[in-house]
Amino acid sequence: MRKASIFAALVGLLCGLGSFTVSAQEMKAYWAASGMFGPFDIRGLIPSLPAERSRMITIGVPMWIIDHPKGIVVFDTGNNVAISDGGCKSHWTAGNCDFLKPSQKRSDVIDMQLKKLGYSVDQVKAVITSHSHLDHIGNIEMFPNALHVVQKRELYQAWWPEKFQRGGAHVMADYDGARDFNYVELDGDYDLFGDGMITVLSTPGHTLGNQSLKLKFKSGKTFVIAQDAIWMRENLEGFPAGLNYSVKDYFASVNRLKAMRDLEDGELFFGHDEQQWKEKGNKWYR
Ligand SMILES: [Zn+2]
Repeated sequence: MRKASIFAALVGLLCGLGSFTVSAQEMKAYWAASGMFGPFDIRGLIPSLPAERSRMITIGVPMWIIDHPKGIVVFDTGNNVAISDGGCKSHWTAGNCDFLKPSQKRSDVIDMQLKKLGYSVDQVKAVITSHSHLDHIGNIEMFPNALHVVQKRELYQAWWPEKFQRGGAHVMADYDGARDFNYVELDGDYDLFGDGMITVLSTPGHTLGNQSLKLKFKSGKTFVIAQDAIWMRENLEGFPAGLNYSVKDYFASVNRLKAMRDLEDGELFFGHDEQQWKEKGNKWYR
């Protein structure tokens, strides 16, 4: 009896250790939103769409929280905390507030999203910023101790946007306190932990140094996370986004991500697709 219970305890211990070892190697990713934008006419974002495809849309402000065996990674930090709960015009131009109609609540902000999932801001090892627009870099200053993974050219873009893009989607107050953070300044793709599980992809066009992400899960699943390289499915049909640094580079990046999805049998996640967010947002993936 005594021997049997010791044996059972040993088996339990070994099984416990076994499952711990397996789960320690796994990666999981959560798709969150820093509130919503809209409703507004889809043609406000994609003016090349024909009038008969006009419809009102409400879209998410996408952020990803990735739990990798080597640390917590955040991909984009959403809208600045100051625009929560009706505070938009204290931080953004009236034009941006009136057009985008952000509905962000304080509980939608990245620090609270992390907390909800059981993490703290200080635990985040790396922040990958897709680009320097107001709905993606908004809370970079909440992460002074993380490594910041950005294309070097995007830093030029952030601090000196083209004249036609100033006063619009770049809000200098989002990041002017982040100049001396620890940046991993990229010129191209980058395998974040050297294990092929999180790869930063250079996808310029939407901005000068826009970047996307590829995740390879232990389950065999591949996620291609476009963020603003592809706003929504209409962009895949050949209708370009209305806000671009270079339309030529934009289409090259769209085609690159499409090819990656098809060749690697992956799933493509858009930055701001209404339907996809409804179906797949606020969920863990592994
Ligand atoms: Zn953008």
